[in-house]
Amino acid sequence: MLKEIKSKTILHYHEQTFATNWDANIYRGCGHNCKYCFAQYSHKYLESQDFFDEIYVKSNAHELLEKELWKKKWWWFSINLCGISDCYQPAEKKIEIMPKVIKAFIKNKNPLVIVTKSTLILRDFELIKKLNQISEVSIMISVSTLDEKKRKLIEPDAAPTLERIQMLKKFKDIGCKTGVLFMPIIPYISDDDKNLDDIFRLTKKYNFGFILTWALHLRWNTKNMFYKFLRWNFPHLVPKYEKLYKAGSASKEYKFNLYTKINLLRRKYQLYGRYEMSKPKNRKVVQLRIF
Ligand code: SF4
Repeated sequence: MLKEIKSKTILHYHEQTFATNWDANIYRGCGHNCKYCFAQYSHKYLESQDFFDEIYVKSNAHELLEKELWKKKWWWFSINLCGISDCYQPAEKKIEIMPKVIKAFIKNKNPLVIVTKSTLILRDFELIKKLNQISEVSIMISVSTLDEKKRKLIEPDAAPTLERIQMLKKFKDIGCKTGVLFMPIIPYISDDDKNLDDIFRLTKKYNFGFILTWALHLRWNTKNMFYKFLRWNFPHLVPKYEKLYKAGSASKEYKFNLYTKINLLRRKYQLYGRYEMSKPKNRKVVQLRIF
């Protein structure tokens, strides 16, 4: 079910975030159906139980952005449009709000961050190219496995991982900042040496600026849903997970071994986890909290 809502505000400030301090969530809920989705908690604020099937879109998002970005006190801060839900999720194919949103960014030459698991973003390629000529655009993909059989189970309604990589290359070729979020790394499912190496190798091959890694967290709704998925698809792993996830995150020993491997891959491919914030072009950046 898709619900259009009119929102009163659109910009949200966060103290701690990796890409930027500012979010504008165009969608709430997400039809990609990832079995490890950690954003589900956000639906409780909407008094809804179904993050994957009750999708809310802020149909006036572009109008709000136009207003907010023109305010005198706004200083061209970089804005992430996919902080909670993927803004190029399946619903966007029908709703087509993103072109209007990007036009609002173009109008104000505002830096933009998009993190997606979809290739639908290519529909707006020309608009993003235009924005990138006047202000920095960062496009990132999040990935978990190159094994298509597993990917279809874990992220059933997202694009195949290789298609995401090919899509990201197109944005790299026009000068957008690009990066790979290799997250979550799923114990015993996507943490094999080949998958780890392949994702680092492809990130290096296409010269995507950075790669961030994060081992699976299992808390609240995410934990229940993931165990259901596990029992159905990988029942032999349930006892191993019960041992590994006594708390919300994997055991210290598991994480130590995983990040040791990751650090070796970082050295092998000279790829680090540094992300540089998107900036306005031809303007001095001021880091201020203004709201
Ligand atoms: S793409 Fe992100 S928000 Fe959407 S279901 Fe997957 S993890 Fe959740």
